[in-house]
Amino acid sequence: VGVFFRPVEKIAAVLETYPKGIAGFRRYTDFLDTKPEIADAPGARTLTGVTGAIAFRDVRFAYKDSRPVLKGIDLEIRAGETVAFVGPSGAGKTTICSLVPRFYDVSAGAILVDGQDIRSLTLASLRRHIGIVQQDVFLFGGTVRENVAYGRLDAGEAEIADAVERAHLTETIAALPDGLDTVVGERGVKLSGGQKQRLSIARMFLKNPEILILDEATSALDTETERAIQASLAELAEGRTTLVIAHRLSTIRHADRIAVVIDGRIAELGSHAELMALGGAYRRLNDAQERLHGGVGLGERPAAE
Ligand code: ATP
Repeated sequence: VGVFFRPVEKIAAVLETYPKGIAGFRRYTDFLDTKPEIADAPGARTLTGVTGAIAFRDVRFAYKDSRPVLKGIDLEIRAGETVAFVGPSGAGKTTICSLVPRFYDVSAGAILVDGQDIRSLTLASLRRHIGIVQQDVFLFGGTVRENVAYGRLDAGEAEIADAVERAHLTETIAALPDGLDTVVGERGVKLSGGQKQRLSIARMFLKNPEILILDEATSALDTETERAIQASLAELAEGRTTLVIAHRLSTIRHADRIAVVIDGRIAELGSHAELMALGGAYRRLNDAQERLHGGVGLGERPAAE
């Protein structure tokens, strides 16, 4: 933890303002790798040798002094499986996923990683095995190299180059004035939304977590960029347990399983084909999105949400 904290303090010091909102708060706590209410249990164990299997056992959750948000989530996710969470706004998709890195602890029930209750593990070791890719990528005011290496602070040159290559960023970076040493952010070169997302993907290739949480973008990138990003994300998800917080159905139809979350419960669970055949909520959501983006097939990404 010591190795991790020191540079992180520096990073926190260069943040001029914290990103606002819930996502911003999560991002900030992610930087600090801590959150006041969540602390290691006495005798907490270090999570090692992770396969990435995740189990939700009758998980119930309410934000502080608030009505129940999750009302009994039961879900076994196999190591390496991709599960997408879809459903109406406010149904609890984001909440389900934010319990895994323990941004909050469950109110009742339990979440297990590789069969171990995550509350019995050290926060640092749990989060070492979880990567989060969010829609609004946060870059701090350092070089491209530092921003990528934030994924793993001890990474060497070759590993950074490899991560950059896998995120299809090599050419973009070569075109920057000082390559990997180009300063980005407020006082440096402005990167486009797509480039920032790629940088965060490079960060994740470097971190190489067994568990990946993808908070899908709601804001529109142009279709070409979006396709390319989706392809990179698919490569990143390969071989990892992946939880996708989905806002569009078009991007998740190839998920191993889709969980339809309605009012804090999993209403339907299955593959795209299975849920279409079921003819329930998923089918209705699917048909509604198709109508909304009339003429755009499900494989296509609509121009804007
Ligand atoms: P969306 O598709 O709009 O992102 P979602 O399915 O991801 O929605 P959540 O973000 O998990 O839904 O929110 C579930 C419920 O919890 C909502 O009613 C929301 O207002 C509430 N909620 C979310 N975050 C907090 C918070 N930090 N404090 C209090 N309530 C919250």
